[in-house]
Parts: sequence; C-alpha cells; structure tokens
Amino acid sequence: MSKFLNEKIAKITPYVPGEQPKQRKYIKLNTNESPYPPTKMGVQMASEEANNCYLYSDPECSELTSLVADSLGIKSSQVILTNGSDEVLNFAFMAYCDKDTPAVFADITYGFYKVFAKLYDLPTKVIPLKDDFSIDIDKFISTFGTIFIANPNAPTGIALDLNEIERIVSSNPDRIVVIDEAYVDFGAKSAVSLIDKYDNLLVTQTFSKSRSLAGARLGFGVANENLIKDLMTIKYSTNPYNVNRMTLGLGKGAILDKEYFNENCKKVIQDREYTVEKLKELGFSLTNSKANFVFAKSDRIDGTSLYLKLKEKGVLVRHFNDPRIIDYNRITIGNREQMQAFIQVVKEILEETK
Ligand code: PMP
Repeated sequence: MSKFLNEKIAKITPYVPGEQPKQRKYIKLNTNESPYPPTKMGVQMASEEANNCYLYSDPECSELTSLVADSLGIKSSQVILTNGSDEVLNFAFMAYCDKDTPAVFADITYGFYKVFAKLYDLPTKVIPLKDDFSIDIDKFISTFGTIFIANPNAPTGIALDLNEIERIVSSNPDRIVVIDEAYVDFGAKSAVSLIDKYDNLLVTQTFSKSRSLAGARLGFGVANENLIKDLMTIKYSTNPYNVNRMTLGLGKGAILDKEYFNENCKKVIQDREYTVEKLKELGFSLTNSKANFVFAKSDRIDGTSLYLKLKEKGVLVRHFNDPRIIDYNRITIGNREQMQAFIQVVKEILEETK
C-alpha cells in the first residue's frame, strides 16, 4: 500500500475471487462458471463487432436491452445492463445505502456484499442463517435498511419460494430489497414477475453462469422505471460505456439462442442431481442446491483437508474459512465427465483417509 492511499480505502479487505490457476491444468470446479462455451451465434456477432471497436459502444445498449426486456416480458425502461452483475450490485449499494440506511444481508451469503459495505463505509445488519442454512425470513420482515438476498443463496444454493420473497418485499415498502438472482436459471423462481407490483424491488441477474459469458462481463438489473433511472444516474456518472461492443454481441446471441440456453441449463441440473446422488452414496451431507454448484460436507474428512487433497490431485473446488462452513466445500457443476472424474478422485481420497 502506498503512503498516498486514503484512509477509507486503506481499511478495505477486497473480495477474493476463486483461484484462476495458470501453471497447472485442473478440473476447475471453483468459480461457478459454465462448462459449456458461449453460443456460436454470439461469438459470430462479437467477432463482427470487433471490427467496430474503434467506435464507442452504445451507452444505452438499446438493442440488447430490448431483447432482454422482451425475453422477460417487461419494458426496456425497466432494465439496466451492466459490466457483470457485480456492477449493478455496486450501483445498488451506492444508490440505496448510506450512514442511516444499513445494508442488511445474511451472515453466509455472497462475499461481495460485505466488501461493498466496507467500501462505502456503510453500517451493516448481518442476519445469521438458521441452523439448516436457510434464510431466516422472519428477521427480514419489516426490517430497517436495504436488503440484499441472493436467491438461490451462495454458497449454500438454497432457494426461497416466490411467496417468501414477496413477504419480505411487501413488508418493507419504504426500503429497497435487492434479489440477486445470479443462479436463478438452475431451478429457482425469479422475482422479476413482481417488479410491476412493488416499486421497492430490484432484481439482478447475470450472463456469467447459465449463459456461459463469465469472461465477457455482462449482467443486468430489473426494476420499476424510477429505480432504473437512479441506477442510470450512477452509470452515467462513472462509466457510460460500461458494456463493450463485443460483449453486447455475445449477449445478443445468448438471448436469441434460447434453445442452447435451455439445453445447457437442463444438463447442469441433471449433472447436479447426479453429483448429489454420488456424494450422498459416499456419506456426504448436502444442502438442497438449486444452483450450478453443490455445497457438501463429508462425514469422513474435514472440509479443509478435502479441499487441499482435491487440489493436490488436480481438482479445484471452493473452500471458505468462515467457521460456520469450514467443513463444507462448494463444488461447481461441470460437464458429466468432469463430475465423474471428481467423484472418482473423492473416492480415492476417502480410501486413503480410512
Ligand atoms: N451474485 C452472486 C451470488 C454471485 O455468486 C456472483 C458471482 N461471483 C455474482 C453475483 C456476480 O457475478 P457476475 O459479476 O459475474 O455477474
């Protein structure tokens, strides 16, 4: 750190992304990416757009915004496209929290929420998950502050029902509720259908997981027009060209090729169920994940040792040091061969620890 860094930033502990190894080829099940490449249609559109990169991208992202809106059955004015959904979450922290409006989130959830809160020097209200790792809904009813809920939650994968989300949103009419649906396409119900009914609801989604575009950085927020205008104010005050031309092309392809999207979601869900079944046979306990990962704990080996042994044998999964979940690992669902290889390696490790 330099002597010039201001006091506020000097105090921050940045978000730690999952490892992106370069030296060795791992079976990479640690950052919830899709195991499938982007649709060819999008790659074609992106490569055509590459030729136009001497010109700025469309700051309004008009074409893709209207495709996203149409696909969700809402108006373009109810959508903002961003550089990954991290960016729309960042905007929400900037727009809807301050020293008198704390950020409210679960103790075990997406790690970036607490980083944003620290970055903006915000008070926080942290609500512990119940013992079974489900969200303690009653504690989010008529609470005080801006609520951030990942649905399905990460890293547990547990999803709330739409009526539970609605209870939270309707009980906090004077506070913003952000539902982060990064993993919604793998089996949870989206709250997008509620945005016309509630003017305090912001739903965020991403192209990083179910649409195979983690490296393109594309996400979006959906809400009533006034909230979108708030977020646009931040976008135009920070980075008006936040989505680049090639990413807009990839995004268009991803929306237009619905069949490829549906097929990939289906495969991930099937391979998740396969992985759950195999891990249960090996004595693991798992949460009921509706995401593209499972969250698992062995009855024979502690979480840290399992993570390290898997890594030694060429499989990367995500391990967190939080004491509440230290015995768990979060395992991204890869393709069937990757999951078979993963199960094989787990078997070997369990044999060796006998
Ligand atoms: N929300 C959750 C719950 C996540 O796990 C992630 C992925 N790290 C994100 C949002 C952000 O993803 P992206 O910026 O790639 O859209």
